[in-house]
Amino acid sequence: MRSISIFGATGSIGESTFDLITRAGGAGAFRTVALTGGRNVARLAEMARVLRAEIAVCADEACLPDLRAALAGTGIETAAGTQAIAEAADRPADWVMSAIVGAAGLVPGLRALRHGRTLALANKESLVTAGPLLMAEAARHGATILPVDSEHSAIFQGLVGEDIAAIDRIILTASGGALRDWPLEALARATVTEALAHPNWSMGQRITIDSASMFNKALEVIETREYFGINPDQIEVIIHPESLIHSMVGFHDGAIMAHLGAPDMRHPIGYALNWPNRQPLPVARLDFAQLATLTFRAPDMNRYPALRLCREVMHIRGLAGAAFNAAKETALDYFLDNRIGFMDMAGVVEDTLDALVSDLRLETDVLSLEKVLGADHLARRRATEIAQNRSAA
Ligand code: NAD
Ligand code: MG
Repeated sequence: MRSISIFGATGSIGESTFDLITRAGGAGAFRTVALTGGRNVARLAEMARVLRAEIAVCADEACLPDLRAALAGTGIETAAGTQAIAEAADRPADWVMSAIVGAAGLVPGLRALRHGRTLALANKESLVTAGPLLMAEAARHGATILPVDSEHSAIFQGLVGEDIAAIDRIILTASGGALRDWPLEALARATVTEALAHPNWSMGQRITIDSASMFNKALEVIETREYFGINPDQIEVIIHPESLIHSMVGFHDGAIMAHLGAPDMRHPIGYALNWPNRQPLPVARLDFAQLATLTFRAPDMNRYPALRLCREVMHIRGLAGAAFNAAKETALDYFLDNRIGFMDMAGVVEDTLDALVSDLRLETDVLSLEKVLGADHLARRRATEIAQNRSAA
């Protein structure tokens, strides 16, 4: 029986993964090792009971008594805290879903790779902050990383049987997020609620805001560069409001492979779960006659400074990805707290990068977890100062 673990089980990707595992037979078909969550211990405990998990771990230590109470008498182990989540990744499991949001997802995923597991990687921040380290560790330990981000799953599927050297370009599609049709002058006043109204995808709160600001796409450009190892200038971004083409690969001979499907994360998650095979999945089928048109437009770089910043990050490389992501996470916290405006997020990230390029050697190699975590920490501190100044202004 295949064994699985889900890191970030209570989130949007975690719930979709749970749904697929349950439909595929649940505890009768999979041995569930670890399930982790943040604070929602009621849901975490329920999932652990249904899948008869070996251990349930919550990130927040204050929630441990509740988790224990909820699982009393079940024989399911419980634990809490960042360290306990990392240790849960040392437990043997054949397939590990990495679906914690933010840089917090890096360490558990890395630990799973060091044990040679198959890592279904939804946590794009892992590749953005520590791409070279992650890829090197996977190669060294014979581990497999399967992309779960819909764009990267689409590209991965487009490359089955192909030679990576035959790639001419990769075209990442972007929905444009909730504010894509707003006039540029109005963006500075956009509220959290407005930025959360995503037209096509239902996702966690943080990635939904990142979609509206295009920071999500900026992270994905870097993710593409790190995962597929191709040149930054071979990666393009196009706005495709219908979100039906999940991305495209263009080859030297002029052919373009586009991956289409309903915007439902259970497709890329299910592909990673069943890889290298395909199994039936509960996703809607496209009716082309009804869809009639697919539309595209070039992103306006004035609206989306994030798309320019990710190019700088790829140019500096080294620890710039870790600093970029940490500054973005900090700026997002300030926006979610209504302490800075929507467009200030990019300003905070840009100022943080500018400040750190001079006093931190961002170009140092990224083959050390300590350096990545150090850069993350430093960038959070600097971004906090910068965001605080902006919120006071
Ligand atoms: P979410 O906010 O819905 O869920 C995040 C999960 O991580 C929850 O279980 C939460 O409790 C847990 N968590 C949060 N902070 C934590 C911490 N500090 N330590 C440990 N656990 C913590 O997020 P999501 O939308 O499911 O996204 C998860 C990851 O997948 C992100 O990296 C995101 O970019 C990526 N992703 C998501 C989607 C999507 O459709 N939701 C699509 C592509 C990629
Ligand atoms: Mg994506």
